[in-house]
Amino acid sequence: MKLLIKNGRVIDPENNIDQIRDILAEDGKIAKVAQNIRNGADKVIDATGKIVMPGLVDMHVHLREPGREDKETIYSGTRAALKGGVTSVLAMPNTSPAIDTAENIKLLKCIIKKTAQANVFIAAAITKGRLGQELTEIARLQKEGAIAITDDGASVDNAQLMQEALKLAKKENILVICHSEDRSLSARGVVNLGLTSTRLGLRGISRESEYKRVERDIRLAEQAQAPVHIAHVSCQESIEIIAAAKKRGARVTCDTAPHYFSLSEEAVLGYDTNFKMNPPLRSADDVVALKQGLKNGVIDAIASDHAPHTENEKDIEFERAEFGVVGLETELAVAITELVDTGLLDWLGLAKKMALNPAKILGLNKGTLGAASDADIIVVDPAREWVVEKEGLISKSKNSAFLGKRLKGQVEYAILGGKIASKNENSRHPRTGKISQVAENLRA
Ligand SMILES: [Zn+2]
Ligand SMILES: [Zn+2]
Repeated sequence: MKLLIKNGRVIDPENNIDQIRDILAEDGKIAKVAQNIRNGADKVIDATGKIVMPGLVDMHVHLREPGREDKETIYSGTRAALKGGVTSVLAMPNTSPAIDTAENIKLLKCIIKKTAQANVFIAAAITKGRLGQELTEIARLQKEGAIAITDDGASVDNAQLMQEALKLAKKENILVICHSEDRSLSARGVVNLGLTSTRLGLRGISRESEYKRVERDIRLAEQAQAPVHIAHVSCQESIEIIAAAKKRGARVTCDTAPHYFSLSEEAVLGYDTNFKMNPPLRSADDVVALKQGLKNGVIDAIASDHAPHTENEKDIEFERAEFGVVGLETELAVAITELVDTGLLDWLGLAKKMALNPAKILGLNKGTLGAASDADIIVVDPAREWVVEKEGLISKSKNSAFLGKRLKGQVEYAILGGKIASKNENSRHPRTGKISQVAENLRA
């Protein structure tokens, strides 16, 4: 199978290419990136006026299967991923059962093999049942295929246990990802602690609950001489701590999610539970700090923290609603709208944050268009504007923080291993005349 993508603006951060080029994919790999490739390809895509970049690697995704297939499945979540330009995801282990044994990884791999529409990589738990009491068998989990460990949704409170995990992870060459939250400080809060929590009369989540734990996690990693990744950084102090750690040579990386750099706590004032997530939306100053961190490189990656929940779990009182929002279908467009269109990042910078860097952090041969790398490619119309609507989302859950927002940039093709895996087309609603996206799944 040969696929030729012609005349696109090719963005390849690894090789520092931002040029009009053709790309030939052959047998699942990138065969050639050059001008005027003439080759008897089986399929040709005309990408004139389009961006052609590596498929996104989203290192923080909750696919909910096994256990909560009413929220999302590996099938529905990976379809949503492809629609949003995400060709690889790292699946979080807080499923039911949690991914804390080799047997559970086997089960998960089986479902992935049968139903996944995009590449799914596995993160296993640090502690059994994610309860923070007893370590999982990290070596066995790694052998079975886990590429990272995390108790995401919770932090390992016991510092000694966490340090033991970091030492073992280093030995087994598996990445530790931290959901850095000191629950004794976040104190069952539901929104950012400060003006918003006071105005709404809701319990607040302090910034200390995040950055003090970021500080601890980095210190433990340094003592264990292990690399560590801090997930979903949301406040300025965390960025400063990570910047200082990087400066002194600590092997720390971090990511943030689109909602943190595009929305602030004011969004919560209407009690809309689609703005409830953990960590919470912070202040306008934090948004500025996050953008700066993305620009200056302290923040390595953008990940969605795609967290699907049913309407029953979201359409209730704010305090009782689940934390989290879906993000796979909107993350690229939010990043284009907020970061590229505003001149904060160029396309190479964006491809770094959303494809190359996460791939590197996870040790994957992805996020690049270099010769012989996996031909996971997306073709994006950078100028196409669209409105996020519930009906347009193909994730099983619709709890998006961007409903009603007009975004710029639409994925036209997602190519997986050299084959077109999904093609998005615009359709105009016959009655309202609204333009919405239809994702045609070409793999099922
Ligand atoms: Zn988390
Ligand atoms: Zn998460």
